[in-house]
Amino acid sequence: MPAFQDYYQILGVERGASDKEIKAAYRKLARQYHPDLFTDPKEKQQAEEKFKQINEAYEVLSDPEKRAKYDRLGAGWQAGQEWQPPPDMGDFFFYQGDPADFTGFGSGFSDFFEMLFGRDAAFNAARRTRRTPRARRGRDMESELELTLEEAYRGGSKTIQLNTSQPCPQCGGAGLSAAGLCPRCGGTGSLPQTRTLEVKIPPALSEGSRIRLKGQGGEGAAGGARGDLYLKVKLLPHPQFQLQGSDIHSTATITPDQAALGDKITVPTLDGPVAVSVPPGMRSGKKLRLKGKGWPIKGGGRGDQYVQIAIDLPAHLSEEERELYRQLAKLRLGRR
Ligand SMILES: [Zn+2]
Repeated sequence: MPAFQDYYQILGVERGASDKEIKAAYRKLARQYHPDLFTDPKEKQQAEEKFKQINEAYEVLSDPEKRAKYDRLGAGWQAGQEWQPPPDMGDFFFYQGDPADFTGFGSGFSDFFEMLFGRDAAFNAARRTRRTPRARRGRDMESELELTLEEAYRGGSKTIQLNTSQPCPQCGGAGLSAAGLCPRCGGTGSLPQTRTLEVKIPPALSEGSRIRLKGQGGEGAAGGARGDLYLKVKLLPHPQFQLQGSDIHSTATITPDQAALGDKITVPTLDGPVAVSVPPGMRSGKKLRLKGKGWPIKGGGRGDQYVQIAIDLPAHLSEEERELYRQLAKLRLGRR
């Protein structure tokens, strides 16, 4: 004979307790005895036992039909007392059978419950009240963030499109349906998803540095938080600047007369165009150094910009210009 379960005693409420009182008592106890709160194996096992009892008691007392049936048994029973269906409750159906049938069934509910409400009820209730799986945080993800040198230098915000995947809503990520492979996702369990994100970019990011976007990673399980998304910076090739360490290299083309006589030219830098003096007698391939116009250095300061000079003729020379070059050539011959 199964042992009588005193559900009111288990939840610590009066027999006449209201639904609200029962719910409050259940919640308090379920929080107190949640097995995930215990690490010591013995304590954990005891908590699991208690947790099962609490769930069973709540399953009965929170359901008006089950509670009415249970209350019909009367108040004369003691917890643990050997119980058998009372003969004066002929209008109730009790699930009697070989006692062996009631053990090892695995519903986690007591024999008492199973006899009173049936094994299907025990199984269904156990499935519903099975303790929730431990919440798991979603995985961290990494993606590449392509930036121009200017974007990486200045920082700011940038809208990016991110190709990720989401669990297939039809099969819940299992990849299977009743008929076989899930037709929606083809059995992969996930569907592609494009997300648009507004990313705040701190200034002076270097190649390979990472931006962390909290909570934009993989989805958590069982109510767990989302993972983080890391964006790894990739600097795009620049049409004018080459970054080498913390120095920037660029080129400037000047005409032969500028090279010979010197001039002021305008050179693009990360901070915009600046005027640079070309000294007289400039030779092709020589470099001008623009101090502090390079890339920010960790811990303060900036590298330099080096402007390599190339000398080229203007695309079209006028007859007058050619005549002057002839005079220059004669002068040079005369000096030999
Ligand atoms: Zn699917």
